[in-house]
Amino acid sequence: MMKGFAMLSIGKTGWIEKDVPACGPLDAICKPIALAPCTSDIHTVWSGAIGERHNMILGHEAVGEVVEVGNLVKDFKVGDKVLVSAITPDWSSLEAQEGYAMHSGGMLSGWKFSNFKDGVFGEYFHVNDADGNLAHLPDGMDLGAACMISDMVPTGFHGVELADIQFGDNVAVIGIGPVGLMAVAAAAIRGASNIYAVGSRPVCVSLAKEFGATDVINYKEGDIVEQILDKTHGRGVDRIVIAGGDNDTFDQAIRMLKPGGKIGNVNYLGEGDYVKIPRTPWGCGMGHKLITGGLMPGGRLRSEKLARLVETHRIHPEKLITHTFHGLENVEPALMLMKEKPRDLVKPLVIID
Ligand code: NDP
Ligand code: ZN
Repeated sequence: MMKGFAMLSIGKTGWIEKDVPACGPLDAICKPIALAPCTSDIHTVWSGAIGERHNMILGHEAVGEVVEVGNLVKDFKVGDKVLVSAITPDWSSLEAQEGYAMHSGGMLSGWKFSNFKDGVFGEYFHVNDADGNLAHLPDGMDLGAACMISDMVPTGFHGVELADIQFGDNVAVIGIGPVGLMAVAAAAIRGASNIYAVGSRPVCVSLAKEFGATDVINYKEGDIVEQILDKTHGRGVDRIVIAGGDNDTFDQAIRMLKPGGKIGNVNYLGEGDYVKIPRTPWGCGMGHKLITGGLMPGGRLRSEKLARLVETHRIHPEKLITHTFHGLENVEPALMLMKEKPRDLVKPLVIID
């Protein structure tokens, strides 16, 4: 048996005991070395955003050590230290062959940890398709940076891919929590010119500037549409990444986007039934303003490529870690910190010594 910190039902969490997961021929069983809670865990538990779940171990951001591998796993062995992708698709699925691995098996079904099966906040966790979803932990990599490669880095980068940021673009990044901050860093790497970062927590604002934001827009100090139109001489921006806000953020984004502009959303909408798009600013339906929302793709190649960006010092995800805990039992206070979002928080990390 093993223990894990679980969603007991919507709005309720607690420690439970479960059988250690079984390892299939293509799979691996890992024990955690570092863990991080995610805003998505908060939406899942306290907003019931994906519906009811009973006694499901939470967490999908981890660095691990392999303790068992299936007999068909080629590239990983017991004792290997690994980066674990938060999204673990079935790479042989038809959806993956179409380029949408994150939806392998159905919409959002590449997101298995803490959605369709137990997550990583346990003494052990199961990784399907180990060769496709694990990556070797590079020697000497900071554990905070490594753990951010699970989800924060790939999700921020995916927002930038979805927004299709080109060099010279004027970009708004709405939301500069850990996801939006990595989107700011990704936009800078893609060659954005002005990067307008929308947020308010001072710790996030200063990291946004460090990662490449040219301007910071505080949504608490006035309408962000007016502030961004003002800064762009009424023209609006070319590209927008949404990594925070709520259902009304799409209305604002359409209003501040140029015709032909693109919006990449990675925000997980926890509540409400509809997202409204303003008719006239959307060109009465003819404004060529594209909105794409996406779960990040996951997988080994992405983890390896993002790890290279860390190793070459092009990105610094370790700077997201503002609070460090030690010991599995501390995933609970770390998750509560994520729920409360104190002003000095960007991201907590739990190291399992
Ligand atoms: P945070 O809560 O840390 O950050 C949210 C950001 O949005 C903050 O900068 C916050 O500002 C800002 N914000 C809040 N309200 C508004 C508003 N009304 N208008 C504009 N900005 C606002 O979240 P994370 O960075 O941890 O995660 C961002 C989202 O990404 C979450 O919904 C999460 O679930 C989702 N996610 C999606 C994934 C995917 O694959 N698509 C994967 C992982 C996460 P302030 O500075 O005031 O706090
Ligand atoms: Zn996450």
